[in-house]
Amino acid sequence: MKLPVYAATAFSAAISLALTFVPASGLGYHNGAVQIDVTESGGYYILSDPLRPGISCGINGTTPAKGPVGTTIGTGRRHDTVTACVDVLYGVQRMWDMLRDWLGRNGINGSGRGAPARIVTGTSVPGSTVDFPGSQSFPTQLDLVGHQYGHVVYQTTPGGAGAGNENGGINEGSADIFGTLTEWYANSHVDRPDYVIGEGSDLIGGGPLRHTYNPGLDGHPNCYSAQIPATEVHAASGPMRHWFYLLAEGSVPGGGKPSSPICAGGPASVTGIGLVKAGRVFMQSLLRKTSGWRYVHVRTASVMSAIELYGPADPACVTVKAAWDAVSVPAQPAEPACAPPPAR
Ligand SMILES: [Zn+2]
Repeated sequence: MKLPVYAATAFSAAISLALTFVPASGLGYHNGAVQIDVTESGGYYILSDPLRPGISCGINGTTPAKGPVGTTIGTGRRHDTVTACVDVLYGVQRMWDMLRDWLGRNGINGSGRGAPARIVTGTSVPGSTVDFPGSQSFPTQLDLVGHQYGHVVYQTTPGGAGAGNENGGINEGSADIFGTLTEWYANSHVDRPDYVIGEGSDLIGGGPLRHTYNPGLDGHPNCYSAQIPATEVHAASGPMRHWFYLLAEGSVPGGGKPSSPICAGGPASVTGIGLVKAGRVFMQSLLRKTSGWRYVHVRTASVMSAIELYGPADPACVTVKAAWDAVSVPAQPAEPACAPPPAR
C-alpha cells in the first residue's frame, strides 16, 4: 500500500519522537538526583527538551550541553556548568508543567514554546536566551529558574515588558511569583518550598535574596508610595510580592508559614485564598496587562480577573481588594464591586 506523502511524514515524525525522547538521570547541585527529559542522539543525552519546544540548556551559547547515554548527567558540584544545566532543565520543566496544570497556560510563551537557557561564565550578551550568569556558583535553584523564565512569561503577555521603574518593579515581582509557584509545584524534598527567593544560591553571601512575605527584611518597601517610580526595580517589586503573599497565605497563616505585615490604613487582617487560586488570579491579571502598567492597574486587573474566574461573591474578590489595601494600593474608580457571599 502506498501512503500519501503527508501520512508518511506524520508517521515518521511520530516514530522519531518515540525514539529520541528519554527521561535521563541527572545530578543537580540544588535539586540533587532528578529525572530530566532530554533528547537522545548519537550516543549522547542532549539537554534539549523533546516535549517542551524551545527549551534547552547550553554553556556560554545555545548549543545544548550533553552527556554520554547511560550515565548520570552532571556531578552535583556547584561550580560545574553541566550540573547547573541539570538544575535549569529540571526547574523549567517543573515550571512548564505548573503553568499547564495550575495556571492553564500553554508553555512559557502561552503558545507552546519556551526559550533556550544559557549558563554564562563570562559576560552575558543580551539576546533571546534566558541567562544564568556566575563563576563559582550559578543562580539555578528552582525559584530563580522560575524567576528568570517568569520574565519571559511577563514579556509574552499583552503589553510586553513595558518601561520605567514602577513597571520594572511589577515585572520583578511577577518573576518572584512565578519562582514561588514553580518551587511549590516541584515540591522537592531537597529544596523544600517556601516564600523566600534564592536562599540556596549565595548571591549575597548567604541567606535569601528576597522575602516575599516581608520585603522590609530586604530593605525593600512593603507598601506602595509615591517613591516607587523612582525606586530600583527589585526594591520596587516589594509591594507586588507582598500583595501576592497576602492573597495566597494571608497576614497570619500559621502552620509554620510566616506572618506578613499590613501597611498603615490597611485592614486588620487578611485571610489567604491559597497559593494555586492566587496564582490563577495573578496569571489572569497578566492577560490584561498594558505597556503602561502601574500598581493601580494591576489592582483593577486582578479584581476583574478574580470575578471572571470565581464570580463576584467568591472570597477571592474581597481578598484581592483587601490584599491591595494592605500594601497601600487604593481602590480604583474602574474597579468592579464584589457581591456579598451567598446566604446559607
Ligand atoms: Zn528579575
